[in-house]
Amino acid sequence: MAAPGLPTTTPATSSTRVDLAIQGIRLADAPVSRRAGAGPSDDGHLLLDGVGAAIPLNPRSPYTVQGGKLLLDGADTGMGVETITRPRFYDLNTADGVPYEKIARLHSARVLATTVVQTCVRYEESQRCRFCAIEESLRQGSTIAVKSPAQIAEVARAAYELDGITQMVMTTGTSNGRDRGAVHLARCTRAVREVLPDLPIQVQCEPPGDLAVIQDLYDAGARSIGIHVESLDDAVRRHWMPGKGAVPMEEYRAAWAEAVRVFGWNEVSTYLLVGLGEDPDEMIAGAEELIAMGVYPFVVPFRPLAGTLATDVDRVPSPDPRVVAKVTGRVAAALRSAGMLGSAQSAGCAACGACSALSCEGA
Ligand code: SF4
Repeated sequence: MAAPGLPTTTPATSSTRVDLAIQGIRLADAPVSRRAGAGPSDDGHLLLDGVGAAIPLNPRSPYTVQGGKLLLDGADTGMGVETITRPRFYDLNTADGVPYEKIARLHSARVLATTVVQTCVRYEESQRCRFCAIEESLRQGSTIAVKSPAQIAEVARAAYELDGITQMVMTTGTSNGRDRGAVHLARCTRAVREVLPDLPIQVQCEPPGDLAVIQDLYDAGARSIGIHVESLDDAVRRHWMPGKGAVPMEEYRAAWAEAVRVFGWNEVSTYLLVGLGEDPDEMIAGAEELIAMGVYPFVVPFRPLAGTLATDVDRVPSPDPRVVAKVTGRVAAALRSAGMLGSAQSAGCAACGACSALSCEGA
């Protein structure tokens, strides 16, 4: 109970959004959620004041929900919360008996997401990215190792018809081939566009050794691309991503430049994870350079996830919320002044925005 004269609600600000991204939310269940897998996971997909947000589910979080309101330590924050309902396509199976939800999943309210190859050539412990749990969901049996283009197209059509998805994200574990998995992504993209010619698709991959593959991905029908570096600091990259960090930054820069040429300004993005030990000011300066290239830096706080080396071995804590707020705020300001908005992208994480607080800052 608030003291007399004090308001009982706290204004819903982007700092609440940042804090939620770090502290998570205490919810008995979220019908749309994700355990393990590539990138940020172990989260529940919610609408915060009507805006999609992927928030870690944490039974010890001070944030709870009551009557559709977000509470902090029992006090109303003034922010509305709705859980996203389970999509209908999750109840279907392919003709050969694979549940559709093992092939692709709903992210936020309207994004269909899939990892087309759920294994990674870098998953051996000395090479694996320490924040990643891509093969964990495979081990748990919640997905299959390789999704065929036909399977993905079948599920995409159902998700479009039954649940009204508006865009699709396809990522991949890294393969042994020179293309690092991009060729299979192109095949999957083409198959989806054959059944849904207008569905915007973002593909996500490492810099393909042969830059011509970037054009192939576009020609297959992808309209946005994520080439995710996670950190711009080579020492951080070597420690956190021994395998992927061995790909020189020049390869990333060449791939981003080619991707901007092919896909266009603000249709190329990269994740930057706050909390890996990179100097915040250097990260902000690096993000500004990316923006000048036409690449959107999707700033996301590092999440300690079960099943990752960072959590199970290194016991790395969540980042300091003040650092996340500073980097998010400064990068958002740079994006706004460049006129570069995630919501203006055709598809992908920046267009979705659920995993970052950038969208709360108008970027
Ligand atoms: S931002 Fe990306 S990873 Fe996060 S929910 Fe949206 S599509 Fe999924």
